[in-house]
Amino acid sequence: MDAKRFSWALALACLCWFVSLPTSLLGQQAGQRFMVESQHFRVMSQDLEFAKHVAKMADVYRKHYAIHWLGHDLPPWSEKVPLVVNASPQLPASGETKYTLMGGTIRSIQMVVSGTQERILDSVLPHEMTHTILATHFAVSGKPVPRWADEGACTTVEDSSERRKHDVMLVKFLTENRGIPFRQLFAMREYPPDLMPLYAQGYSLCAFLIAQAGPRKFVEFLDYGMMNEDWVSAIRFVYGYPRLGNLQQAWNAWVYDGGGDVSQYTSVALGMTSNQVQGAFVPFQAPNVPVSNVPVLIRAGQPGPQQTVGGTVLR
Ligand SMILES: [Zn+2]
Repeated sequence: MDAKRFSWALALACLCWFVSLPTSLLGQQAGQRFMVESQHFRVMSQDLEFAKHVAKMADVYRKHYAIHWLGHDLPPWSEKVPLVVNASPQLPASGETKYTLMGGTIRSIQMVVSGTQERILDSVLPHEMTHTILATHFAVSGKPVPRWADEGACTTVEDSSERRKHDVMLVKFLTENRGIPFRQLFAMREYPPDLMPLYAQGYSLCAFLIAQAGPRKFVEFLDYGMMNEDWVSAIRFVYGYPRLGNLQQAWNAWVYDGGGDVSQYTSVALGMTSNQVQGAFVPFQAPNVPVSNVPVLIRAGQPGPQQTVGGTVLR
């Protein structure tokens, strides 16, 4: 068959294949990808069956992790979120979430997830979903979540095989003197050039705090710290460590002893509890300061050249 005839035959065969499928199963084809819509997402993937599965799981995760972090489901977004899926047995696990913060809400959320099907479902999608949930919750503050807490919290919902890589790297960074002092960590507004310690240390510190009082209390702690930009008071009121240095000391001891159970490293167990921890923790209220209407594009993910942890791209 000459080339022209072959290309016509191929085109006809493809057309027949598409029209032979029921529309409800086919979804819509977008370029080289299939598009499947769920309640909150518009999923694009080269694999129709996987696109349908991701679309279903994205809605499930949105509700599941909103309740995990906030104790309630999220209100609907103003538009469905485009979610691009790149699944292949050869791809390292990676992802990216972008959104625009404006007027106390987030808009134009975009999500990309890559990796094997298994890692996309058990690590990358939960990680990126947590970014969108925290961003939605904190949008009223007009500020993005501090980087260490954002990336750290997102990593706590990944599969244990992914989390272990960060634990291993953390010990390496600490022994190489690449740890970030807490005063500096808490003040970081942007990703530092040496990203990997931020991810590993952020994850470890989030895991340490969440193990003490749960994910919702951790979000309350962020509410408090972001409202006042007073992280010393936030740590004192919620976790009882009088100063950031005390928290760093307790966390260091926990890491040095191999992690695990945190009960011996709480402020109470270490006799550090501030008198003020018994006082009034003020739940988050919308700030009175005017929220900027100038749109700010936020990218939750590493900037610049990719950096990896044990074959996983930081996300
Ligand atoms: Zn991330």
